[in-house]
Amino acid sequence: MPKNTRKCQGFESFQRLNYLFQIRDFMAINVGNIALSTYYGSLIDSIAKKSVLRIDPVLKKQSCKKCKGALLPGTTADVKIKSNKKVPIVIWKCKQCSFVRKYPANGNKKLWCEKPESLVTLLNYSSTKTSQNSMANTPEQNKHKS
Ligand SMILES: [Zn+2]
Repeated sequence: MPKNTRKCQGFESFQRLNYLFQIRDFMAINVGNIALSTYYGSLIDSIAKKSVLRIDPVLKKQSCKKCKGALLPGTTADVKIKSNKKVPIVIWKCKQCSFVRKYPANGNKKLWCEKPESLVTLLNYSSTKTSQNSMANTPEQNKHKS
């Protein structure tokens, strides 16, 4: 490994979280073992808390806040859209614990992490020859690299 490579803080924990997210969804969808999926979800939560890492909001919305299970539309969650107000509301209901989360379905509003000014440095781990730090120009690059 070159001398000037720079790893992000908690790189190994992020790798482990990525693996656990994948296996959590796999257990819920393909195997159908919801209890094991919930166990992996609680592992994700405890690893993120222990290593003081922030989970991406998109991934965070896919897990139940109460039972830590995967919220996958149709298999482990019921999704409804309520549109009798100005802003339609997306309602996610966990099939395991019946916990309900509501999100506004406002297409114009973006989270701060989705805005281009939130990106300071892009760390590239894809190439094995040289790992370079580069500034990103578009938020689409951020989604593909992370
Ligand atoms: Zn739940």
